[in-house]
Amino acid sequence: MSVDSAAVPIPELVALVGAEHVIQERAEQIRFLRDFSWYSPLLTTTFADVPVDVIVRPGTMDELTAVVRIAARDRIPLTVRGAGTGNYGQSLPLHGGILVDIRRLNRIVDLTDETITVEPGIILGDAEEAARRRGREFRIVPSTYRRATAAGFVAGGSGGLGSVTYGSLWENNVTSAELLTAEDPPRTVTVGADDMENILHTYGVAGVIGRLTFPLVPSHRWYQAVVKFATFPAAAEFAWAIGNDAAIAKRLVSLQQAPIPTYFESVDHLFTADESAVLLMVDDADRDAAITLAQGMGGTFVPWPEKPDITQFPFSHTILWAKHHDPTTTWLQCDFQAARFFEQLQLVTDRFGDGFLHHVEFSRAPDELRPHGIPVLTRSEPAFVDEVIDFCNANGIRVKNPHTYVVEEGGHLRDLEKLLAFKRQTDPHGILNPGKVATQFYALQRGR
Ligand SMILES: Cc1cc2nc3c(=O)[nH]c(=O)nc-3n(C[C@H](O)[C@H](O)[C@H](O)COP(=O)(O)OP(=O)(O)OC[C@H]3O[C@@H](n4cnc5c(N)ncnc54)[C@H](O)[C@@H]3O)c2cc1C
Repeated sequence: MSVDSAAVPIPELVALVGAEHVIQERAEQIRFLRDFSWYSPLLTTTFADVPVDVIVRPGTMDELTAVVRIAARDRIPLTVRGAGTGNYGQSLPLHGGILVDIRRLNRIVDLTDETITVEPGIILGDAEEAARRRGREFRIVPSTYRRATAAGFVAGGSGGLGSVTYGSLWENNVTSAELLTAEDPPRTVTVGADDMENILHTYGVAGVIGRLTFPLVPSHRWYQAVVKFATFPAAAEFAWAIGNDAAIAKRLVSLQQAPIPTYFESVDHLFTADESAVLLMVDDADRDAAITLAQGMGGTFVPWPEKPDITQFPFSHTILWAKHHDPTTTWLQCDFQAARFFEQLQLVTDRFGDGFLHHVEFSRAPDELRPHGIPVLTRSEPAFVDEVIDFCNANGIRVKNPHTYVVEEGGHLRDLEKLLAFKRQTDPHGILNPGKVATQFYALQRGR
């Protein structure tokens, strides 16, 4: 699908949202066409020159609906963007058309002790601040919560702070969503538990997300600390133990192999190159229990400095620091098996040594704690990355490929057939973020 620029009804969009919210100048558009896909050498090439005809910034849900209606009516590709912090080019159009920036849609619609309902473009940190004033907090937020939007997290993220206790997006951490179909006129579909997986981490290909409802829990006073260990296996044992300790309330357990912590430039004075570390957020009331556990396992417990916040270092932030330290590094995502966690960590180290530096985050599934590796690969040539992927897969470590922009190749999608059946109802003309679902992508490539 390629767009004839003349077919995009710019005057109609201007009349709808106001000229100051319609961006046509390429130079100005460029800042909306950036994300964090440059973590991957492959994606950097793919998204070197992103086509877009116009960027539109609706200020109300009615305006958003009208933009979707115009795109559906005229069969114009439509891609939605939050803060653009995604790592896989999710928010970058492959086929031009209209890019919708949703960040003016930032209102809190409803707030109770149990749930918060928000417009899609609200910054998660702002939504959580409102919940905190009521003594509540989100169960999970991405480590980018100070910038990331609610819909961007749902459609482009996976988990984050809190996942060690409440799991990932797929563990009922989104209560419901209103979805606009890409039809003329758009229908509003309410998505609940049964269909939620169709919009989680599917890059907006199954509908335009409107209002979202998230579950809330009582808020905590989170205490930040790091526990340092002389060996990586000792750090891993501690991370696993505190992750599984139900008596210690926690929001973060982030395992980092030496020398990764020394890449954290603004706090590198805390670490030496041979120290592995576990970054922690525990309830202030459980601080002593955490200290006792850490010291009992041979760790050195160090309070985190007041600034910068510890949330600037785990999850994909770790990779940001590693790339800052050495731009030739790259990354991977891989799921270790809970029952074989320590064995698999060692297998990888025995095979790749310093080429594969372990960084592991944890997510609570109903039956077990799941270790999710987000390792730093200190060599990024494709042959090496392929060798690592093959080795992991051969040893039961499931690789999720962060070097693809195709939904079902990234390893998060549960059921492609279910998604496509849903999409046929919500996006009958295939205009939503085209190219991000493989079957559609190949059809479009042929049609070019
Ligand atoms: C340093 C760093 C740390 C990170 N840490 C985490 C982390 O802890 N956990 C995590 O899950 N991710 C993490 N990420 C990835 C990313 O920050 C999060 O997924 C974030 O939630 C994305 O939000 P956003 O507003 O930037 O979305 P964007 O990147 O703008 O968009 C993400 C996807 O959502 C789609 N989308 C946006 N709005 C809508 C809508 N209204 N309807 C339909 N589709 C829509 C976009 O088309 C795109 O496909 C990290 C990234 C970086 C760079």
